[in-house]
Amino acid sequence: MKRFAVLQLSGCAGCEVSLINADEWVNRFELVYMPLVISVYDVPEVDVLLISGGVRTDEDLYKLRQAVRRARQVVAVGTCAISGGVANLGDRDEVRELFLAGAQRYHVPRLLPKSHPVDSYVHVDLYLPGCPPTSELFMAVLDEGREFKASKIVCQECGRTKLRDMRPTSLVGFQRGHVLPDICLINQGYLCVGSSTRGGCRAPCPRAGHPCVGCRGPSDVFIEQESAVWLKSIKRVFASMTEIAEQEIDEALRSPQLALFLFQFADYAGGERAVRPKERVL
Ligand code: SF4
Ligand code: SF4
Repeated sequence: MKRFAVLQLSGCAGCEVSLINADEWVNRFELVYMPLVISVYDVPEVDVLLISGGVRTDEDLYKLRQAVRRARQVVAVGTCAISGGVANLGDRDEVRELFLAGAQRYHVPRLLPKSHPVDSYVHVDLYLPGCPPTSELFMAVLDEGREFKASKIVCQECGRTKLRDMRPTSLVGFQRGHVLPDICLINQGYLCVGSSTRGGCRAPCPRAGHPCVGCRGPSDVFIEQESAVWLKSIKRVFASMTEIAEQEIDEALRSPQLALFLFQFADYAGGERAVRPKERVL
């Protein structure tokens, strides 16, 4: 039976909740380490090490280096492990100052100067983007023999129809207003980025009427390119489907609720970090 462990670094624990929702693994794989679920002090030898969360503290870095030595396959799971996620927001100066202002903090791991994705320090065999990845995606990683088919982009999994003659002139906001069923959210003025976001999640957000914020990261077409190319593509989609001014789209794409995912796509594309080759991204 395949043995796997879940190493949780600095993140929000959403990935763990999603994995626990995949109750299929309970009888088919042996979970040998997962904080709050299995009471073991260290990560033992495993076939698959799932790493969630980014490297934010010296404790994160220590645990990461210890754990990867005992794993046959290392999988970076979710936005925090791949590009920083919520913990990365602490790199903003105002957040850091607020945090450090609570000066008398005892028994808390020492903060590293900045947060880093897991592959800044260790080799990653496979990337599993998502915030969090769905239970089905976790199962696709654990069960190599299982057939898993994903569409190239979220739009192909969404089921909403793009209309030519319904062209909004401004954005209606984020999760506001009355959402019409079956019609593309862009036609309704929502900032949905599913057209450039990699599929595999089965589009739970737009299906439920919430715009896709791109948590699965860029599709294969964009994943090895600079984030500017990806952003340009999103703006091109809005130019072809709406009458909304480019500046309005641009400002909305830079808003805090999207910045968590969109601006970190620079990390996907290289720069200081290694390119994440599409063959190694599920
Ligand atoms: S843009 Fe969004 S709502 Fe429209 S088809 Fe794509 S995923 Fe669905
Ligand atoms: S629809 Fe978009 S935001 Fe929702 S899970 Fe999929 S990629 Fe993430």
